[in-house]
Amino acid sequence: MFSKKLKQLTPYTPGEQPQNRKYIKLNTNENPYPPSPEVKKYLDSVDTDTLKLYPDPGSQELRETIGNYFNLSSSMVFTGNGSDEVLSFCFYAFFDKDNGPLLFPEHSYSFYPVYCGFYDIPFKRIPMKSDLSISVDAYTVETDYSGIIFPNPNAPTGTYLETAEIEQFMKKVHSNRVVIIDEAYIDFGGKSAISLIDKFDNLLIVQTLSKSRSLAGLRVGFAMGNEILISALNTVKDSFNSYPLDKLAQNAAKLAIEDIDYFKENSSKIIKTREFTVKALKSMNWEVLPSMANFIFIRKKELSGKIVYETLKNKGLLVRYFGHKGIEDFVRVTIGKRKDMEFFLDLLNTTWGK
Ligand code: PMP
Repeated sequence: MFSKKLKQLTPYTPGEQPQNRKYIKLNTNENPYPPSPEVKKYLDSVDTDTLKLYPDPGSQELRETIGNYFNLSSSMVFTGNGSDEVLSFCFYAFFDKDNGPLLFPEHSYSFYPVYCGFYDIPFKRIPMKSDLSISVDAYTVETDYSGIIFPNPNAPTGTYLETAEIEQFMKKVHSNRVVIIDEAYIDFGGKSAISLIDKFDNLLIVQTLSKSRSLAGLRVGFAMGNEILISALNTVKDSFNSYPLDKLAQNAAKLAIEDIDYFKENSSKIIKTREFTVKALKSMNWEVLPSMANFIFIRKKELSGKIVYETLKNKGLLVRYFGHKGIEDFVRVTIGKRKDMEFFLDLLNTTWGK
């Protein structure tokens, strides 16, 4: 009844979305603020008659809006149903077992090995520095690979590479291998490496509206790069699903991107709350990795990450625990509203003290 391929799949485990009890959710890096009011206005006024027809398969207007925002032609933009789908298409289009393993950081987004399993792509985890930041030099000593992918800022560590460092790195890697920078968390203090796509035809930048535009529920992600790479992604899309983005998603996403002031205001509120939280944690003797994302990766001496996760969950607060070797003492905490972070800090203080 089932295919051989199905038996070989190891699916991704997303962060908990509990339905049975109300938690303070600091576990899935969602934005605590609502999306742009323009999105609400639009969705409140949708003419449902328009849903009789299929949406634009190429999301042309949305790609133009994204192109205008980043100063690119729409032919350098690809859109998909969340950046997870965009990434999945990238894995299909660019990486191959005949060309060597795909390289990614030892501790990184746990969907990457899942896609590798799905598309039968070998992979190699590249060691990180002792402070858990990405070591670019550890990639450039590799000679045999079908491509490279890493998030910037990295997930779940939050550490960030400057564009100048990425440029140096791009000069050293094979120019006939695609490098993907997954910028899901770039808008919380980092600077996109988008300026490098004119210099490097093999560089693809992937972003999402799920985090900084508060639209995780709408499912819109996009990739930006050389037209030849974008055209390859369209070939994959049109071999799988011509209409990955519905009409509501295309229109609402456009409005969210155009509302630049609202987006900037929200991102800076989150950055401010992050800095407040980091300072408080350090004063309570928690170790906090430097983060440029809307989450932080933390641990405390002589406490296991599992205990921290379970204790907080029992008290009504969810954080993310991975338990992977090398990061088993850490938990990842999403930056919520200031009052959520105050509740979180109080919980830590009353449970474990300074
Ligand atoms: N990349 C990274 C590094 C992420 O953490 C996530 C969110 N889980 C994604 C991509 C996917 O986000 P989305 O599909 O919501 O765009």
